[in-house]
Amino acid sequence: MSTLLHVCCAPCLVFPALEFERHGIDFTGYFHNPNIHPYREFKKRLQAVQELALQRRYKMLYDKDYGLIGFLQAVVFKESKRCRFCYRSRLEKTALLALSGDFDSFSSTLLYSKYQNHEEIVFQAKQVESNLTIPFHYRDFRSGWQQGIDESIAANLYRQSYCGCIYSEQERYDNRLKKRLKKDRISDV
Ligand code: SF4
Repeated sequence: MSTLLHVCCAPCLVFPALEFERHGIDFTGYFHNPNIHPYREFKKRLQAVQELALQRRYKMLYDKDYGLIGFLQAVVFKESKRCRFCYRSRLEKTALLALSGDFDSFSSTLLYSKYQNHEEIVFQAKQVESNLTIPFHYRDFRSGWQQGIDESIAANLYRQSYCGCIYSEQERYDNRLKKRLKKDRISDV
């Protein structure tokens, strides 16, 4: 059984890779993240995955193109729904590559993060599975949240402080925006 595992970043790869090894699942990682901005941040995260893969001898495929323009064109005027597109496009590309590369299934390290919308990722992956007829290898990697953090610190990996896109960078650091978003959420209830 071989899985093409979409890799969003190095810290999120640590625990899923251990899990797959523990269960004897042959996997190849695939770094494809047009959602990571700006350019120097993209390069840092790519480099961190390369370092980890080299240290631990993981099989990897890399999409090294910086995807800012295409990403922004796809989400403009739909910014509040951008995560849906972000998950779907990365999962779809992984599944297509898995099909053409003779993998049995596809999966994603996005399933490790407690900060991502887990249910939405699973929903999008199931749609890709049914459209492209390649199995989605589901695992809830969130059980290894702390282990992944501890090991990524011990391995001295670069650990980012925001999700990836320029919108998420503003949401992380702009206190006025944070307050506004919080207020909007409360008034939505
Ligand atoms: S917040 Fe994260 S998941 Fe959502 S669009 Fe930005 S990078 Fe993608």
